[in-house]
Amino acid sequence: MINLLNFNQPQLADYFISIGEKPFRAKQLMRWMYHFGVHDVGQMTDIAKSLREKLAVETEIRLPNVQLEQVSNDGTRKWLIGTDGKDGAANSVETVFIPEDDRGTLCISSQVGCALACTFCSTGAQGFNRNLSVAEIIGQLAIANQSLRSESGYDLLSANDRIISNVVMMGMGEPLTNYDNVVTAMQIMLDDSAYGLSRRRLTLSTSGIVPAMDRLKEDCPVALAVSLHAPNDALRDVLVPINQKYPIKDLMAACNRYLEKAPRDFVTFEYVMLDGINDTVEHAHELLEVIKHVPCKLNLIPFNPFPNSGYSTSKPHNIRVFRDILMSAGYVVTVRKTRGEDIDAACGQLAGKVLDKTKRSLKHISVQAVS
Ligand code: SAH
Ligand code: SF4
Repeated sequence: MINLLNFNQPQLADYFISIGEKPFRAKQLMRWMYHFGVHDVGQMTDIAKSLREKLAVETEIRLPNVQLEQVSNDGTRKWLIGTDGKDGAANSVETVFIPEDDRGTLCISSQVGCALACTFCSTGAQGFNRNLSVAEIIGQLAIANQSLRSESGYDLLSANDRIISNVVMMGMGEPLTNYDNVVTAMQIMLDDSAYGLSRRRLTLSTSGIVPAMDRLKEDCPVALAVSLHAPNDALRDVLVPINQKYPIKDLMAACNRYLEKAPRDFVTFEYVMLDGINDTVEHAHELLEVIKHVPCKLNLIPFNPFPNSGYSTSKPHNIRVFRDILMSAGYVVTVRKTRGEDIDAACGQLAGKVLDKTKRSLKHISVQAVS
């Protein structure tokens, strides 16, 4: 069966052409699937009956299954999404919705686990099982949208009262090592026949897969966040091991190339605050040197602990001192508020369930973008 949620609009148009139909059917079908949340082709009344019958035989519109939905006492919501494949019942990923006064942000996963093994990240600690399909990525948005809509009675598609106003590719996994599926899913998010998100409200966060960043700026330039976390290669090699392959100097150059095409005129650098590891006054000054040629904002993320991580969160005083040094140099700096802690939905706490297949060694990383 072909799952129609796996296609962006041009791919759907090609599919219709291949079965002897007109390409404009793609737009019609997408509106039914994404605007109206209709997943039964039988109900798509402006599509000819003969075509509906053909689609019913050859295709399906299948969302991943929701294993659990939890609501935090601060309003944050988390869905545990089953991603069973050949491995049976073991695998799942997590999706998180963070409501704020002026916006609602959905944090989407791209892989079951992550092979990059950053030492302070709970997803990284679990190893890697597989890439998510397009349907599993876009399905997270569809599931959250439906669930929030049914609860609020809002029409999410009228621009004024969208509950999900922003999407961040910041859940489990490194989105740029699942390049093709992530880009196709983001194209659906941006498509007016689907979610019609603006590029500025769609942010991809990467640990710095340099060749894939160069591809992304051509294929699907969206707002970019880069997980920097350390102001020198010696420390970043340990915290973010992919740095051994794409060191800081190359990463900064890639950020500037990306900005030529980006929808925003800055990159956001994420910097996790680890007590005594990367949070001293010296580190702050070193960081200023490293970023000085890249237009950027900085997002300091107090480390969210998980069992046996070996790290602890920077002291609030040290975070303030660090932030003030950066601010005095003229940067816009935010300190990320921890949300959804009571349901383990905070940054870096997303665990899902991952049957590790890699033994977490760097040699297993498959970077489609390198070839
Ligand atoms: N793989 C991508 C996106 C997912 S991680 C990336 O690394 O950018 C999203 C953000 O959460 C990254 O900045 C990541 O470094 C950060 N993060 C991971 N573990 C964390 C933890 N335990 N506490 C706080 N932030 C964490
Ligand atoms: Fe993967 Fe990002 Fe976690 Fe690193 S921080 S292990 S790249 S999910």
